[in-house]
Amino acid sequence: MSEQPRILIIGAGFGGIAAAIELQAHGFADVEILDRGDGLGGTWRFNDYPGAACDVPSHLYSYSFAQRRDWTRLCSPQDEILAYQEEVAREFGVDRRMTFGVEVDGCSWDAASATWTVTAADGRRWEADAVIVATGQLHRPAFPPIPGLEDFAGTAFHSAEWDHACDLRGRRVAVIGTGASAVQFVPPVAEEAGHLTVFQRTGNWFMPRRNRSYPAPVAWAIRRVPGVQAFRRRFMYHYGETLTMMIRHPRTVGLLGRLRSTLFMRWQLRGDDALRRKLWPHYTFGCKRVLFSSMWLPALRRPNVELVTERIERMTPAGPQTQDGVVHEADVVIYGTGFKTADFMFPMEITGERGASLREAWADGPHAHLGITVPGFPSLFLMYGPNTNTSGGSILVYLEAQAAYIRQALALVRERGAAAIEVRPDVEAAADRAVQQRFQGTAWTRCDSWYRDESGRIITNWPGYMREYEAATHALDPADFELLPAADREPAAA
Ligand code: NAP
Repeated sequence: MSEQPRILIIGAGFGGIAAAIELQAHGFADVEILDRGDGLGGTWRFNDYPGAACDVPSHLYSYSFAQRRDWTRLCSPQDEILAYQEEVAREFGVDRRMTFGVEVDGCSWDAASATWTVTAADGRRWEADAVIVATGQLHRPAFPPIPGLEDFAGTAFHSAEWDHACDLRGRRVAVIGTGASAVQFVPPVAEEAGHLTVFQRTGNWFMPRRNRSYPAPVAWAIRRVPGVQAFRRRFMYHYGETLTMMIRHPRTVGLLGRLRSTLFMRWQLRGDDALRRKLWPHYTFGCKRVLFSSMWLPALRRPNVELVTERIERMTPAGPQTQDGVVHEADVVIYGTGFKTADFMFPMEITGERGASLREAWADGPHAHLGITVPGFPSLFLMYGPNTNTSGGSILVYLEAQAAYIRQALALVRERGAAAIEVRPDVEAAADRAVQQRFQGTAWTRCDSWYRDESGRIITNWPGYMREYEAATHALDPADFELLPAADREPAAA
């Protein structure tokens, strides 16, 4: 590898930005970020539906090295988060390293030259010594496999591709899905729509959150009083770990969470037993994402809102038809049906050693050492890869840990004068077994969710606490890796 390895990062969201800052700070000067969007931000650029906000408090859902004291509320809205990302990228000078409008469709390893060739859908190509795939888990909208989806005669769109030209005022709107996104956009849509039909497949556990702007004295204290900001971050970190504890121990601590949620939901639904019965979750607290909203249940109680729990059988030109034969007429259908989480970076084609594809390597489910490295794919690194999602904490804690771990791997390559680095298959397999083992007895195993693949294996979530992931990634152990010698390296084909 030359003095300055060429490092390509795919994705200019929170992960890609963290990696670029970390590498730049440690003397890696040849770093470029490619992104398919027309600007940075990743999920926070695409998800601009009404009410879009983070459901993790901003003091924790922000980089530890770029803390802000001017968040306007506990959980910031999308535009504030996007502005923060832009500000941080500018402040650290990594915005200059970004190329937009690049839909990467393939990464392929050339053993002779020990380099990656990265190709884009429009035919452009890049050569790199290392590739960091920071495309996240939640970026390919998923549409439900409902027959006749294309037959709907009105306007239809996904929450992650919001049609801002579509005026919802006074119209008949149907929303399919009741996950974290729908829970945020349904309350404002309910205020605009003439009639709103919400189709729920599974109920959720809710916790209270109004998320109003900070009252002036609180905003002042956070801004001016030394230590308040840092205390809030520490507090929220431990709060997140407590939520994870509830999920890890559903028969003990988890019952407290369930009790808190039950009291809150019963209070919000008092006097409406029929609605309560319809939307009540019948699975272990914490198995799916616990949703923090004080607005959702009141929205469902509005006179212009109807909750339908009958399964959708097919889509007709007039609207969704449920199994009881009723056609729910609508002018607009909004899919709040989540993302293709099992796909990770696919449909991008990634080809490693001996021409083996990542799809083949993951035939039995996605797996990567600490969610970052895969045997057979030298100097390829994932951010927010398999088993690194969090249900209790902040993904930014994980992304920072991953950025530092990747930097250590690349520093080792540089120090040893090697061509590339590859995790040992036995190390990765043992770590994967340990991760899967740790899910036993947790709430995550007790229902179907986007955390699992078709075989039931949990592929997205980290099974433990933020602090455990930070400890596991803190110091890269060179014994876990093989270094590919640079001696036999041939120049890359032109
Ligand atoms: P989601 O949580 O996967 O929710 C999808 C919803 O669509 C679920 O209610 C699901 O029902 C329903 N659904 C899926 N297929 C369906 C079908 N064939 N028929 C009827 N309903 C169907 O997706 P999301 O709400 O977009 O959230 C995804 C993740 O993004 C969240 O878990 C969270 O990690 C992240 N997110 C974060 C924030 C934030 O504030 N930070 C905000 C939004 C999203 P079932 O429950 O029955 O599967």
